Amino acid sequence: MAESRCLTLSSTFVIEQGSQTSAFLPADDSLQAAGSDQSLTNRDLKVLSVGIAVLDSVYVVNSYPVEEDVKELAPYHRWHRGGNASNTATALAILGARTEFLGTLSSSKIASFVVDDFARRGISTEHCVMYDQLSGPLAVVLTNRQNGSRTIIHTDSDLPELSLEDFRRLDLSQYSWIHFEGRNVQTVARMIEDVDCWNDRQTTGVKPMPVRVSVELERPRAWQEEIMAVAPLADVVFVSKDFAHFMKWEGVDQTLAAVAEHVKPSATIIVTWGEQGAVARSPDGVVVKSPSFPPEEVLETLAAGDTFVGAVVYSLNCGNTLLDAITLGCQIAGAKVGMYGVDGLQEVHRKIMGK
Ligand code: ADP
Repeated sequence: MAESRCLTLSSTFVIEQGSQTSAFLPADDSLQAAGSDQSLTNRDLKVLSVGIAVLDSVYVVNSYPVEEDVKELAPYHRWHRGGNASNTATALAILGARTEFLGTLSSSKIASFVVDDFARRGISTEHCVMYDQLSGPLAVVLTNRQNGSRTIIHTDSDLPELSLEDFRRLDLSQYSWIHFEGRNVQTVARMIEDVDCWNDRQTTGVKPMPVRVSVELERPRAWQEEIMAVAPLADVVFVSKDFAHFMKWEGVDQTLAAVAEHVKPSATIIVTWGEQGAVARSPDGVVVKSPSFPPEEVLETLAAGDTFVGAVVYSLNCGNTLLDAITLGCQIAGAKVGMYGVDGLQEVHRKIMGK
């Protein structure tokens, strides 16, 4: 891995302490390419979400089933395109980002729902690698009507993981931000190194427009030992309460401190803590907090964390402050847990923006 590593980024992304300056490049101020009249903003470029998409069969049940030999009626069922990166892409698209998903997908009949649903949301899958003999990952989700909890039973994906060669087919000039789900860790680390190299090359000729990289540290499954390998590479690192518990970190403060030991100095760390909201630490150590925005009734927590990530990436990519970004994340994720699915989130966003 080491031999492919470029020099470190010459352009860093730093929050000015105590100011309302954007964590990242301004989206509205056009970046004028030197020597040309071409101007680009982050909103002209795409946000890419890399990971897997799962075909979820979601049953809303009146109570969590007991182990009895009886049939129970589920008052509500829907098919859902799930998977962390896939859910994050959904939130990005709903909020208005030009969004692409990258992963391996099945073109089998059973998985056509997943492919069609990306298209329905306007999420590009143009660079996905398609397999026709395989079904892709499947999951059954039980959403308990009494408390919104979700119990997920899933199959391992029969699809190969995305390869470095698949990733290298991308033209990175098309993207302002790439978010990686924390899986396929060793390969994702190589992908991020590629992005670093590409960013380094942008420093000559034109005003740099680096691609920002975020990663969500996921509760490790197959890659138990390796998950932290991606933390030092990303500009923004997302961590959830679930992951913190897995790592035996107690509370937000300990989680921030523990993750800070693994990330690069210019990185931002964002920790979600369920109904307590979210906390973020900027590269210069400033900590900002957002409360949660609980709905009247918690209906479904499925995809809350991924929705939060999508909203935060959207907001940072638009040039907003870290505090504004995590606040929007909590508002959108809070609204999400108050509804089945995500169809109402566009309206929620419109209201938040006062439109
Ligand atoms: P995950 O879904 O990955 O386990 P969390 O449970 O930490 O992630 O939730 C992510 C975000 O969703 C939180 O930061 C919060 O803003 C929002 N959220 C989750 N559960 C609730 C809840 N019961 N009420 C309000 N907001 C919630």
